[in-house]
Amino acid sequence: MNPDFIREALRQVRYPGFSRDIISFGLVKDVKCEPGLVTVHIEIATRDEKVPQQIFQDCHAILDPLPDIGTVKIEIDVKDAPAAAATIGKSSIPGVKRIIAVASGKGGVGKSTVAANLAVALAATGAKVGLCDCDLYGPSVAQMFGVNERPMANEHDEIIPLEAHGLKLMSMGFLLEDRSPVIVRGPMATRYTQQFLRQVAWEDLDYLVLDLPPGTGDIQLTIVQTVTVDGVIIVTTPQEVALIDARKAVSMFAKVNVPITGLVENMAWFECDAGKKYYIFGKEGGVREAEHLNVPLLGQIPINVETRERGDSGAPIALAPPASNKVSAAFHEIAAKVRTKIPIV
Ligand code: ADP
Repeated sequence: MNPDFIREALRQVRYPGFSRDIISFGLVKDVKCEPGLVTVHIEIATRDEKVPQQIFQDCHAILDPLPDIGTVKIEIDVKDAPAAAATIGKSSIPGVKRIIAVASGKGGVGKSTVAANLAVALAATGAKVGLCDCDLYGPSVAQMFGVNERPMANEHDEIIPLEAHGLKLMSMGFLLEDRSPVIVRGPMATRYTQQFLRQVAWEDLDYLVLDLPPGTGDIQLTIVQTVTVDGVIIVTTPQEVALIDARKAVSMFAKVNVPITGLVENMAWFECDAGKKYYIFGKEGGVREAEHLNVPLLGQIPINVETRERGDSGAPIALAPPASNKVSAAFHEIAAKVRTKIPIV
């Protein structure tokens, strides 16, 4: 019996509710093997008492039947959520005061559009803002900001973000040789993402907006466990299929103690030239869902041709003057709420 063997065996124990195991999460802090006694020390940060109970049972279920193991002692140190940063390997990004993640349960609901416009509108409040596109498989920041150079590295081998419209921008897309999709999957994708997050020279930012990949899988989890996310904004359309996935996203982030800043209902309606509103994906599904989940509704964004066109042409709609553009105004209102909820410290 040796600690490496025990650690390898514990890779079969998953964090309750997730597909990642407790070893890759960095929760197993120490393994001691003495004659007739194996002691495993685990640290977790959660407010859900079922989590340590389940991990305790699962560790015993894996280790107890091993031959010649003797007595198995599983010690679990449960920390309260605010102390989570140190215990699950999170680290803040140097120079960045606040990190806001923008997430969605499913693709195509306008998550990247909301992330880009929120970043622009936050910058318009006078804050120093960066936007990081963390989507390995479908990066979109290059297109939305009309930038496509390859970034340079500084003397510390950190990538220097590009700049457009007063924002610092970084995207996995800037690093790809061509436009072919990245084919790494699983642990490789997780490792790439972690390295990517840690190796950008953001220098001095009030807010870093992270455009997460769509969905609620390991990559999203890795990101929120790699850096200290101050709040996550969930984007959904009012349609039931999107709401189901938004619910999953809210529950996933709540489980790992990432504060939910609120919900944005995108594609809420289409307003024709005569001013009549058409609720293409249903009416106020996001409003009801926010109430049901007891999370703030940060705003509703209509479907609008200019929003799509400006997104495609590198000048997000939030750059338009809010006084004369309703969609831009809606994004500026969302940004004002976010600034209040996540003040610059
Ligand atoms: P996601 O990041 O959720 O996959 P995107 O932000 O890439 O979604 O949006 C998907 C498509 O829908 C893009 O072409 C985008 O321009 C368009 N889109 C998003 N929100 C709106 C909106 N409110 N009005 C019009 N088009 C939108």
